[in-house]
Amino acid sequence: MKYKILALLLCFGLGVRVVVAEPLPLFDAHLHYNWEPTPRVTTGEALRLFEAAGVHGILANSRPNAGTHALYAVRSDKLQVVPFLRPYRVRADVQTWFNDSQTMTLIEEEYRRHGYFVGIGEFHLHGEEARSPVVAQMVRFARERKLMLHAHSDVAALDILFSLYPDARIIWAHTGFSLPAAEVERMLRTYPGLVAELSYRSGISDGSGKIFAEWRQLFERHPERFLLGSDTWIDERWDRYGQIMGGYRPWLEQLPPGVARQIAWGNAVRLFALTP
Ligand SMILES: [Zn+2]
Repeated sequence: MKYKILALLLCFGLGVRVVVAEPLPLFDAHLHYNWEPTPRVTTGEALRLFEAAGVHGILANSRPNAGTHALYAVRSDKLQVVPFLRPYRVRADVQTWFNDSQTMTLIEEEYRRHGYFVGIGEFHLHGEEARSPVVAQMVRFARERKLMLHAHSDVAALDILFSLYPDARIIWAHTGFSLPAAEVERMLRTYPGLVAELSYRSGISDGSGKIFAEWRQLFERHPERFLLGSDTWIDERWDRYGQIMGGYRPWLEQLPPGVARQIAWGNAVRLFALTP
């Protein structure tokens, strides 16, 4: 003990600073700030949650889009906000939007009023649903304005979306949930514009938090293709926000630091032209 105190005194005496590693900054690429009729947390509370979790940027979308506008209005150096236009008014739209003639009216009106949108989504779309005329219209709208898409979709729907818009940049919400890593890799190789977002993605690490070898290899082979997300689709996700975003850190720490940094933050900086 005596020596420890002596060592500390020497450190202070010599002006040596103890350097504590800064936690990696995080980007949350799947943030819903739903507003129906009131959000779970105020914007002030949300900012405090982001700061506490080390989240320095978010991909914001909400149902209806009022929540996104509210978050965009409080963006700052400490919290960069990437707004996406959600094609939903109420929860039930999740099931029907792709066959609803009102969808394009919503998208066009929102975009006309708030031209700052960077993309459209998150939207839910599976299999043959992607062949609907409304989806074709939405994709054409995105293509003409170089907007990204944020798709909660299976492989079949992604194949159709990319056939409509081969140069699309599509953020793949949940990365197929439990789709085998080899299939995920096949998709990444097939579609250079596909970026895999990892909320609710199972199979990355085991019960003790150890990363599985196949996912480690996937991240190391394609470090520029992944994003993290919270998916605050229900209030309960806001209540556990710190835990959810913090839950990525144990497996990130098992990756080479450069790879971890890209997935946590760097890929979002590049994709959305953020301030690093
Ligand atoms: Zn979602």
